[in-house]
Amino acid sequence: MLAEMLISPGHMELREVEMPKAGPGEVVLKVEAALTCGTDLKAFRRGHPKIPLPSLFGHEFSGTVVEAGEDVDRFKVGDQVMSVHSSPCNTCFYCLKGQQNLCDSVMDTKVLGAYAEYIKLPRHIVDQNAFIKSPNISFPEAAMLEPLASVIYGLEQFRISSDDTVAVLGAGPIGLLQVATLKAYGVKKIILAGRHKIRLDTSLTLGADKIIDVDENELTPAILDETVGRGADLVIESTGRPDVWESTLSMVRKGGNILLFGGCPEGSRACFDTKRLHYDEITLKGVFHFTPAAVKKAYEMLSSGKINVKPLITAELPLKELPRAFELLMAGEGIKYAIIP
Ligand SMILES: [Zn+2]
Ligand SMILES: [Zn+2]
Repeated sequence: MLAEMLISPGHMELREVEMPKAGPGEVVLKVEAALTCGTDLKAFRRGHPKIPLPSLFGHEFSGTVVEAGEDVDRFKVGDQVMSVHSSPCNTCFYCLKGQQNLCDSVMDTKVLGAYAEYIKLPRHIVDQNAFIKSPNISFPEAAMLEPLASVIYGLEQFRISSDDTVAVLGAGPIGLLQVATLKAYGVKKIILAGRHKIRLDTSLTLGADKIIDVDENELTPAILDETVGRGADLVIESTGRPDVWESTLSMVRKGGNILLFGGCPEGSRACFDTKRLHYDEITLKGVFHFTPAAVKKAYEMLSSGKINVKPLITAELPLKELPRAFELLMAGEGIKYAIIP
């Protein structure tokens, strides 16, 4: 089969590799759609500590079952499937504490290789985090399961009510997906701040009520302006920049919450005013990955049509055009591309 392989930072190659084979409990999918993602783009540009090269890559996908191994009873050949690329072990310390997103082995047992004609799902994913795709949604929309699960896991750390004002900082694919999810949750006032005209405009069709496109030093006053000087109930940081992490504290109301979603480069530090944190009872919460409960909720939201993710998919491209999709993303063009092998 053909697969795009990441050879070294900045260099990928379309190669002929061995077709995967389903062992007991496993399933092989013909990839029908694989979405580009910021994580893949980062891995492409700088390499990734957890991905020894050369490696298959791509982790947001949907597909059709072409082979089901012995004792797979949830799926059969021909089924249309949406899945994430990881699942927890359910036996380690963190899994037993109910924090499966922090599972000791979740990152080591994940599957990469969605930018290929076929992908094999191991038993632990088949059993927990794969689902039959609803005919109501397209394969590219179904491939949104993984990023949506992350977004839902993050938002579910707080009790969000429909009359809350939520400020999302960062108009990347994740910031936009957060807007769409908040809209599906019924949040009435969603503010999105970013520096990318087309993406900001797209957010209006996803449910943003107010877009803010200003210099950094004007960002806090702009958000306070929108919240009668009080600050937002929830501020979501989705840029992964330490200076933006720090600025969140001046945009949140007393008793409010800050969700730190965007991962900063390793070794980054951020500084926060302790008086504000203490006396104004601000909660800072970092989040990582997702639990099976969040995947299930993402699956239900996508299948029921409760969330509109279509505007996030800029275009469909064949597998051999993956390098072009990355070039476009690096040039700031588009949101997510659906690769159709
Ligand atoms: Zn992703
Ligand atoms: Zn575990």
